[in-house]
Amino acid sequence: MRKKIIAGNWKMNNTLAESVAFINEIKAEIDTEEVDVVVCPNALSTVSVVNLLEGTNIATGVQNVSAENKGAFTGETSAEMVVAAGAKYAIVGHSERRQQHNETNQMVNLKVLKCLEKGVTPIMCVGETLEQRQQDMHFIHIRLQVEEGLKKVENPASVVIAYEPIWAIGTGVCATEKEAEEMCKYIRNVVAGVFSQRDAEAVRIQYGGSVTKDNAKTILNMPNIDGALVGGASLKRDFIDIVHF
Ligand code: PEP
Repeated sequence: MRKKIIAGNWKMNNTLAESVAFINEIKAEIDTEEVDVVVCPNALSTVSVVNLLEGTNIATGVQNVSAENKGAFTGETSAEMVVAAGAKYAIVGHSERRQQHNETNQMVNLKVLKCLEKGVTPIMCVGETLEQRQQDMHFIHIRLQVEEGLKKVENPASVVIAYEPIWAIGTGVCATEKEAEEMCKYIRNVVAGVFSQRDAEAVRIQYGGSVTKDNAKTILNMPNIDGALVGGASLKRDFIDIVHF
């Protein structure tokens, strides 16, 4: 039985003071052991959030990580730094990074491998554009993203995969539970083809894209959807309802 995992991606929102205030507001109300809960604040708030969440069941993640170890990489954060900060997860290959920072499947793969080497759990995002879906290219696109993103990974269950159709992110247009389930099941089949059926049964696959407190239950009750990656709604008290779906 796969444990569901619900992660909040705060993106470039919340100053340090706002992050601290929000965590203090919600942490006592997030009270579940049935679901893994992760919050991913801005990097400058990571250490404070980790400290505030000590003793709770809520883990902290970062929104991006470098594939390099250290050195002349201005503006980057290494996986070792993530570990030292006490964070456990890193979102890797979010569509905003792929689109705004030209991250390729190969770069995402190197980041995934670096996370695993250093003991950080990567949340590897994949997702198609609306055009790709309309042209019926969405399955081949996702297959490539999954296969290339997981290259040289020994144990795919050490990676969380987040299926995030780009047309659903921040648009208020959530995929239907059928669309989300169909693709998450497809991703599981891709994992089975590259690794094994056993690995495919173990890997956790989230859905992300306009998840709200109103649609979370329907989405999260689908058999191949093992959690959610939540953007906008993770900045509000709605996140409490989502994790207790
Ligand atoms: C995201 O950015 O990962 C996301 C899913 O955003 P939203 O929930 O706001 O669509």
